[in-house]
Amino acid sequence: MDLGLRGKRALVCASSKGLGRGCAGALAAAGVDLVLNARGAEALAATAAALRAAHGVRVTEVAADITTEAGRAEVLAAAGGVDILVTNAGGPPPGLWSDWEREDFIRALDANMLTPIALMKALLPGMMERGWGRVVNITSHSVKSPIAQLGLSNAARAGLTGYVAGTARQVAHAGVTINNLLPGIHATDRADALDAGVAKAQGITLDEARANRAATIPAGRFGTAEEFGAACAFLCSVHAGFIVGQNILLDGGAMNSTF
Ligand code: NAP
Repeated sequence: MDLGLRGKRALVCASSKGLGRGCAGALAAAGVDLVLNARGAEALAATAAALRAAHGVRVTEVAADITTEAGRAEVLAAAGGVDILVTNAGGPPPGLWSDWEREDFIRALDANMLTPIALMKALLPGMMERGWGRVVNITSHSVKSPIAQLGLSNAARAGLTGYVAGTARQVAHAGVTINNLLPGIHATDRADALDAGVAKAQGITLDEARANRAATIPAGRFGTAEEFGAACAFLCSVHAGFIVGQNILLDGGAMNSTF
């Protein structure tokens, strides 16, 4: 399917690895020029070079922390008036409900709620003026089904989801869609870090922790960054203009519910 995106420009945040990279790769394959971001310059340069070589698109790299005001300013200056925004950042650390103090919540809200909101606020007006735009926020399955040890993520992402629900319906008339993609368990460094914590706590190997988690997923496996990216690229495509304010779960059937 031709996604109709050739020649468009996208900002994909937190995209040197994992799900962000998956989204960047699928957009590049559709002919989209990219602005990529991550904190670590080396992995970012390697990803940018790989995407340029594979797809012949223009790729600008901005090594910056997207959760800081200075980092966002740098990224937004490079992005200019992009047609597509994919928001993403690292997830908050695990812990217990009784561990977290105000500062922990502020950090999580800054990273996983207020950062995507600030990016949308900066880029939506240009998209609306030009009469076309796509925003995809990478959130989490924790929005639909809370993960006990990720209370900071549950809280911050629920806030972003509420904001998107209202905002998506205020910009759709201008040809701009905002949707959220909710990853279940995908094979990335983040999943490895969480599984390593479980392995340590339970005195089992990392492979055993992975296998135990895969067994809880009806698909019997973790998702891949590539299939996640393909879903993102479709949501950004010209065919997805009537999908507005949705929360789309990609979890291999892990959440047991009818709707
Ligand atoms: P990942 O494999 O650890 O990759 C994270 C990427 O984001 C890297 O490129 C990292 O590069 C970049 N990054 C992290 N913090 C950043 C920051 N402050 N500013 C700019 N770039 C930053 O993680 P992932 O699995 O793709 O997860 C992406 C998001 O999905 C996270 O919020 C995670 O919580 C959520 N999620 C993931 C899963 C899963 O199973 N993988 C499930 C549910 C939710 P640098 O470190 O160099 O900055």
